[in-house]
Amino acid sequence: MQSIGEIQGMISTFSSSPEPGPEPKQRLCPQCGLPYRSLLLGKQWFSSPACDCRDRIERVQLAQEWKEEERDHRLREAGLGARWRQCSFQQFEQNEGNHLALERCRAYAQQWPQQARLREGSGLLLSGSTGVGKSHLAAAVALALLERGAKVLFRNTSAFLCRLKDGYAEDRSERQEMECLEAAELLVLDDLGVERDSPWERETLYRVVNGRYEQLKPIIVTTNADLNLLEKSLGPRTFGRLLEMCLPLQVGGEDHRRKSSRQRKDR
Ligand SMILES: [Zn+2]
Repeated sequence: MQSIGEIQGMISTFSSSPEPGPEPKQRLCPQCGLPYRSLLLGKQWFSSPACDCRDRIERVQLAQEWKEEERDHRLREAGLGARWRQCSFQQFEQNEGNHLALERCRAYAQQWPQQARLREGSGLLLSGSTGVGKSHLAAAVALALLERGAKVLFRNTSAFLCRLKDGYAEDRSERQEMECLEAAELLVLDDLGVERDSPWERETLYRVVNGRYEQLKPIIVTTNADLNLLEKSLGPRTFGRLLEMCLPLQVGGEDHRRKSSRQRKDR
């Protein structure tokens, strides 16, 4: 690092004006109002703050960025993709068909971790046709709990089963994933479809659901299948467990994906 003397020498060497101009008008710190110090280096005036406001603001900004990065990391680790990370209760579009489900989900998040709830291991079973906001509600519960430090895992059921079949991921084995699922305080199984033809898939879902049942740990399931179809697809054991653990909530209303695509077309 160069010394002030060296810098001064460089400035006076390269400076083209023969004499330093008049001292510039004094600047004030926009934060605390303290005047800046004027410094004459060679033939040029510089002003530098006499307070530490700038450093302090930078530190606050860094801490804020770090906090946001931490939050993002936590949500990613919980399995919430970028889309679901935006899905708060405030962002949910309320209508006649979904306001009851919204209220119940909001209450569920607010009452967490009420002991009675946990003891019963009670969860939610959100059903309704596609695009009515079931996943949004499940994600909103997950987000609210994650903000409060709860251990939540959000899994798209098909993707989860596919990855499990392939031995899960490079950084995580099937056994590790199952252990993670068991350790989560709340598990969300999003989009539990009806295409559960393989005995392996049925058995795996039973293991997941039953594992939570035995540990008295809640689960939130979203599905676009009606309950009769779901029972047929999952089998009576898994379906029975789910019904015992979860409060069924019908989410109605208009398909918001079609609505927003229509609105885009109309624009
Ligand atoms: Zn200042």
